[in-house]
Amino acid sequence: MLAVDAVVELVNECSDAARAAAGEDGLPRPTVPALGALGDDPERCRRAADSLHGVFTDERGPVPALNDLLAATGVRPRLGTDGRLVWVAPADADMLLAGAVVSLVAWVDAHGTGRLGVCGAERCVDVFVDGSRAATRRYCSETCLNRSRVARWRSRRSAAGRARGRGAARQ
Ligand SMILES: [Zn+2]
Repeated sequence: MLAVDAVVELVNECSDAARAAAGEDGLPRPTVPALGALGDDPERCRRAADSLHGVFTDERGPVPALNDLLAATGVRPRLGTDGRLVWVAPADADMLLAGAVVSLVAWVDAHGTGRLGVCGAERCVDVFVDGSRAATRRYCSETCLNRSRVARWRSRRSAAGRARGRGAARQ
């Protein structure tokens, strides 16, 4: 199973949607070293990332898309000889996508369906998993959180400025 943070990195670095929102369309396609050998092919990374981005953006929640991807990859559970649950994929499966799907399935199983999200900042569609106790995360990163705070402050300030301007015009 892949680390869920590495799966999030895969989606944010390699999906067409995230790259377009960040203005990175023209840049060379990246690999994801955190995924080891599975993450070393830019085209394989893009395909998996595009499929996985839909898990986070589906307005029905992550369950239907994850079940579709379980079916598409052919990943299924088995019991190992020690009696523990293991996941197996067909020999011809995309092992990157299969491993990422299992990782997200396990995350949702452990944390519920409401903790996979898309960044709330303007011009960012990066995704995140919310591991916070309160489950109130709205942004992909500190950078986007701060960017949004500044944008809200500017818009409040300009609204207040316009209100003052109208007041002065009436006098
Ligand atoms: Zn963001």
